[in-house]
Amino acid sequence: MTLKNFLVAVDLTEEADEVLTAAHQLAVEREAQLTAITVVRPMLAAYGNIGFGSFNSSTFDLEAEALKLAKTKLVQLADQYDIDPEHCKTLLGSPAQEIRRLAAEMKAEMIILGTHSRHGLGLLLGSTASGVLHGAICDVLAVKIHDEPAAAA
Ligand code: AMP
Repeated sequence: MTLKNFLVAVDLTEEADEVLTAAHQLAVEREAQLTAITVVRPMLAAYGNIGFGSFNSSTFDLEAEALKLAKTKLVQLADQYDIDPEHCKTLLGSPAQEIRRLAAEMKAEMIILGTHSRHGLGLLLGSTASGVLHGAICDVLAVKIHDEPAAAA
């Protein structure tokens, strides 16, 4: 039997557990193979346009190190949801773009990611969620993240 492919996107913050819990449940219900992706933003995109000067080989060493750390963290996290290391992908680039690209490459039938309402009045998706939604060629499930209420002043 060929399993369906689902792709779950996690940013390795505390909200990743909520997204993985929902994705794991859905994958079990629909008998799908779950792949997890996390995307590391390039240093150049993060700092290149604010006058940090030229980039050299140590920039790329840092990126390689960041990718390695992200992979270790993703594998540990994914293991709690029965996703094996072979199905953990760590990529460098723009999160929305890389999530869409991998989903197309693996012919995913669904992308699962988180969204929360701290941007505006709960009407707007976050940047990654809306970036994935616009242009995705498969279903996208946005899992509502339960943000901590702001501490009283
Ligand atoms: P945002 O739209 O940035 O608020 O993020 C919403 C959701 O997009 C997160 O809960 C994750 O599911 C996903 N996401 C955000 N950043 C990344 C990333 N760097 N790599 C993979 N997924 C991400």
